[in-house]
Amino acid sequence: MAARRLLLLGPPGAGKGTQAKILVERLGIPQISTGDMLRAAVSAGTPVGVEAKSYMDAGKLVPDEVVIGVAEERLRQDDAGSGFILDGFPRTVAQAEALDALLEKLSVRLECCVSLTVDEDELVGRLLKRAEIEGRSDDNEESIRTRMQEYRAKTEPLVAYYREHGVLAEVDGLGDIEEVAKRVEGAIS
Ligand code: AMP
Repeated sequence: MAARRLLLLGPPGAGKGTQAKILVERLGIPQISTGDMLRAAVSAGTPVGVEAKSYMDAGKLVPDEVVIGVAEERLRQDDAGSGFILDGFPRTVAQAEALDALLEKLSVRLECCVSLTVDEDELVGRLLKRAEIEGRSDDNEESIRTRMQEYRAKTEPLVAYYREHGVLAEVDGLGDIEEVAKRVEGAIS
């Protein structure tokens, strides 16, 4: 049986959101994207949104305590009870530890961390293309460079973290969307 408590890990532009949406369709469990939730908070002008906006526009990570609060609240909702696809959370070791503590309280555990690997030149090209299509305010070249640096410094250590926890599956993120989706499916079943 396919794992149902999943985390998609990978640098910006690796295709986490795209693959998460395919898994939502196939597994019938929700995608939990802190990036989407933070963008919604920014649009709605909530206190979380006001705090997060300047970090997001600069391509910096939003402080752990803010993101952890947002993710915990979402994970406690009923529809996440039978499974979830975490997309873009956790992004730091402190966030990963907070997630472990929460899941323990909920008496469940993370079953698989799919790490999408993609060459960096390919990533920047993808992000610039997405900037044209979606017009995301953080998809300019300066912010993209900062997001890559943030990834390398703060998020990449999670690959080792989840390897040590015995739940890491590395998946080649290069290729067309369906091809990558098949690899992901193989990794989680
Ligand atoms: P994403 O849509 O996942 O690429 O996230 C867009 C931006 O939201 C990131 O560049 C961060 O500024 C912020 N963000 C999203 N998720 C997190 C997280 N788990 N920790 C810190 N910042 C985050």
